[in-house]
Amino acid sequence: MPQPEHVEMLVLGSGEAGKFLAWHMAKAGHHSAVIERKLIGGSCPNTNCLPSKNEIWSAKIANLVHHADRFGMVTGASSVDMAKVLKRKRDMVDGLIAMHLDRYKSSGAELIMGTGRFIAPKTIDVSLNDGGTRVVTGDRVVLNVGTHATIPDIPGLAAAVPLTNVEALELDRLPEHLMVLGGGYVGLELAQAYRRFGSEVTIIEAGPQLASREDADVADAILEMLRDEGIAMYLGAKVLEVRGRSGEAISLQMHIAAGDQTIECSDILVATGRTPNTSGIGLDLAGVAVDARGYIAVNDRLETSAPDVWAVGECAGSPQFTHVSFDDFRVVRDNLAGGNRSTRGRLVPYCMFTDPPLGRVGLSEGEARRQDIAVRVATLPIVAVLRSRTVSETRGFMKALVEADGDRILGFTMIGAEAGEVMAVVQTTMLAGMPYTGLRDAIITHPTMAEGLGALFSNVPAR
Ligand SMILES: Cc1cc2nc3c(=O)[nH]c(=O)nc-3n(C[C@H](O)[C@H](O)[C@H](O)COP(=O)(O)OP(=O)(O)OC[C@H]3O[C@@H](n4cnc5c(N)ncnc54)[C@H](O)[C@@H]3O)c2cc1C
Repeated sequence: MPQPEHVEMLVLGSGEAGKFLAWHMAKAGHHSAVIERKLIGGSCPNTNCLPSKNEIWSAKIANLVHHADRFGMVTGASSVDMAKVLKRKRDMVDGLIAMHLDRYKSSGAELIMGTGRFIAPKTIDVSLNDGGTRVVTGDRVVLNVGTHATIPDIPGLAAAVPLTNVEALELDRLPEHLMVLGGGYVGLELAQAYRRFGSEVTIIEAGPQLASREDADVADAILEMLRDEGIAMYLGAKVLEVRGRSGEAISLQMHIAAGDQTIECSDILVATGRTPNTSGIGLDLAGVAVDARGYIAVNDRLETSAPDVWAVGECAGSPQFTHVSFDDFRVVRDNLAGGNRSTRGRLVPYCMFTDPPLGRVGLSEGEARRQDIAVRVATLPIVAVLRSRTVSETRGFMKALVEADGDRILGFTMIGAEAGEVMAVVQTTMLAGMPYTGLRDAIITHPTMAEGLGALFSNVPAR
């Protein structure tokens, strides 16, 4: 075994929280190192958020070109060049990697490229990517190892070598018929993008609705939007068997309410959930406990069962978003500086980047009901927001939940153009503790999508 090297802050996995912690600590003069097996900067810039949004943007352009005549444009024949779509994405990722390497350099944090696993408490053996090993110990250790796509235990599925988000975003060809397993946001975003590039697309979802955490009216609007674009969908489907190989020919057998059915397709994408990257990394040797699903057990300060060892981001069971991983960084950073910051009660907004997108912050109606919270509900169709007519994107609606016996906003959901930006306005109002009447009575620029908030909050039933 090589002689152990010692650092003050040691991070395993260069996800969002971990890299920011290492940069922060290094800048503050603490000897810091990050061990990363492949993705400089973690999954967000390499394989997940930014690459998917990059290709989704290309798909939006494809859709606009396809419907250019609606906007008065006369175009000739057009087609999608997936090799160029891929190149634009790869160029962006290369730029992001260069940006990250600069941040490592300027902060003084060391980036060790290799696969790490614990061999003793706070001691990690690194199998270096360019050969050899290093053993590194840290006074403080942070785990930010993330998750990977779960491949469900369906006969024949693993043997079919299905696409996950990683491979789907590396295609330089257009699948003839893409089958998407999973109606969550990863599956829906990619399904719509590939449909717009020109693939036939079928979504298969086990649950009774798409986007399982949303209210049924929201899920119905998403379904209608995707169906309008020609995507086939099966809900409440139990996949029985998969035969063939993705990229060649696949035959999928499933059971739906109407009976057993077989679907043939060319490619299959699995987007049915995530599995933490916590097995085989010696957590037992480090004294770090995991929960029944393999996520690292942490308290509300993100401390693990081992002293001076934290876990952050998805592997710690935090909500699966980059902005949450970034907030995990702030929790640990501030507590290391003597603060008392907690992950409890965080208001976590999110978007699904379909077109139009979904934006959501706070409670849904279903959640309010399950938590026995009485609410007043207001809705507004997007077509009532005049901006939507100027851009010919009138699909969707807004929904707000206001407490029944007070004026605080408890939740907001929007499907419609610029939903993420409009949601941030409502989120800010919620964080400020401002009554909904503040938004209702504000002068909001015309014609913007946010202008609709005035009309939405005018629809809140009286107390
Ligand atoms: C297709 C897709 C789209 C998404 N889009 C969005 C979005 O639009 N907005 C959003 O907020 N979130 C999005 N997410 C979620 C988001 O990507 C993650 O929540 C975010 O990247 C935070 O991840 P993390 O910090 O937990 O770790 P990650 O960024 O996943 O980092 C973990 C790192 O650890 C490394 N690692 C693991 N094990 C080892 C080991 N043993 N040794 C060395 N290195 C190791 C991995 O290589 C990886 O780089 C998306 C996810 C997917 C799958």
